[in-house]
Amino acid sequence: MSVKKDFDSTSLHDSWDREHLWHPYTSTLDPLPTYKVESARGVRIKLADGTELIDGMSSWWAAIHGYNHPVINSAAKEQIEKMSHVMFGGFTHEPAVELGKLLLSMAPPSMHNIFYADSGSVAVEVAMKMAIQAAIARSGSHKKTNFVTIRSGYHGDTWNAMSVCDPVTGMHGAFGSALPIRFFLPSPSIGFYDEWDPKDVEPLEQTLAGHADEIAALILEPIVQGAGGMRFYHPQYLVEARRLCDKYGVYLIFDEIATGFWRSGKKFAWEHAGVEPDIMCIGKGLTAGYLTMSAVMTTEEVADTISNGEAGVLMHGPTFMGNPLACAIAIASLKLLESQDMQSRVAHIHDIIASGLERAKSSPKVKDVRSLGTIGVIEMKEAVDVGEFQKRCVAAGIWVRPFGRLVYIMPPYIISDDELQELIAKMIDIIY
Ligand code: PMP
Repeated sequence: MSVKKDFDSTSLHDSWDREHLWHPYTSTLDPLPTYKVESARGVRIKLADGTELIDGMSSWWAAIHGYNHPVINSAAKEQIEKMSHVMFGGFTHEPAVELGKLLLSMAPPSMHNIFYADSGSVAVEVAMKMAIQAAIARSGSHKKTNFVTIRSGYHGDTWNAMSVCDPVTGMHGAFGSALPIRFFLPSPSIGFYDEWDPKDVEPLEQTLAGHADEIAALILEPIVQGAGGMRFYHPQYLVEARRLCDKYGVYLIFDEIATGFWRSGKKFAWEHAGVEPDIMCIGKGLTAGYLTMSAVMTTEEVADTISNGEAGVLMHGPTFMGNPLACAIAIASLKLLESQDMQSRVAHIHDIIASGLERAKSSPKVKDVRSLGTIGVIEMKEAVDVGEFQKRCVAAGIWVRPFGRLVYIMPPYIISDDELQELIAKMIDIIY
C-alpha cells in the first residue's frame, strides 16, 4: 500500500487543498502539484505569488476569448440582476431563445432542435439517448441500442461517454466489464494533410454490414481526436462515414465539444468535410470558459421520430437546463465571434503555431509535430513527467499541461503574436 508523500507547502501550493480536494484524475496519496491562481485577465493567469503565466490551454479548450472579458462580464452582470436561474420545465426565457436562434444560424443547416445540457459529458449522454430512442422508433426494433466508434476517441467521463472512449487510453481499464461493450474500429490512419485511401473506412463498412441491426449510431469527434490522442484525420473519412450510416440505417453523432467555435480552423469541424451529422454535441467554448453548459442539436427527423416513438418524449431534463446566466454568457461570446473575421484570425494563429513548432522537429526526443487550426501538438517519444514539466513552465511564465506523450497548446484567440511566439519558444525550450 502507498503512503502519502511529504509535501512542502508554499504560498503557491495549498496544503489543505492537497489533503482534501480531488483534482482531475488525481491520486490522493501522491497528487501532482497544483498552483494557486489569484486572478486571470486576457491571456494571462496570475498566481498567488504574483507570477504571470501566458495561457496555452484556454482552460481545456473553453476560454476562447481569454479571461475576464469586459463584454462577457457585463452580459453576465446584466443577467444576474434579472435572474441567474429559473427551471426550464414549464418556463422559457429570452436568453434561451436568443441563444437557440444564434446556434441554429451557426450550426449545420439540417439542425433544427436544441437540447441544453450541463456539461460536455452530459451532452454525449443525451446524444446517445436521443440516438437510441430515435433508432428504436425508426426501425421498430429494440435491438438497435449499441454504438460504433473509432479508437483514440474521447467523449467524456460519464458512463456511456466513457464506454465510447478509447478502450486502452480511456477509462475501460479502471471500470472493465461495468461498461457497456461497444464496437471499436481502428482510428483513421490517413492524416488530415495526407492523400485519402478508401481502405481507411473498410472496417466501418464491415462492422455496419454485420451489425447494423444492433447499432443506433456511429459517434465521432469530427477531424480532431482530442484527449484520446490529439490526432487530425482526413475529411473524406467523414464523407464515407455519412454515406455508410445512410446505407445501413445508422445515425451519425458528431461530438464537436472540443472542436467547436473555430478551434479546428473552421467554425465547426464538420465544415472541413461538408458533412452534416444527425446529432451534434457542443460545449466547452460555448460559454467561453465562464460556466458549465453544453447543447445537443439534432434534425427535425430525429426529434419527431423520438416524439412519435413509444415514450413520446425525450427522456432527459436536468435541473440547470437552459440556465439563463449561462445562456446570456454564451450569447455574448457568440456575438463576439460573429463580430470578427474569425476565419482570418484562426488562419493567422495557425501560421504562427505551425512555423513556431518547426524548431521542435529537430529534437531527438520528438516523434511528431503537427498543427491544425489553433491547435499545436508536439508528440514526444517518451511520456512526459507532468509535474516536472509544469514546474519548468511556471518558472518560464507559461501554462501548458501535457498528457502522456503529448505536449500541446490551444491558446485563447485573443493572444498577441508576441505572446504566442513566446509561449511556443519557451515550450520548445522545455521539451528540448
Ligand atoms: N467530448 C470531447 C470531445 C471532449 O474533449 C470533452 C472534454 N475534454 C468531453 C466530451 C467532455 O466534456 P466535459 O468535460 O465538459 O464533460
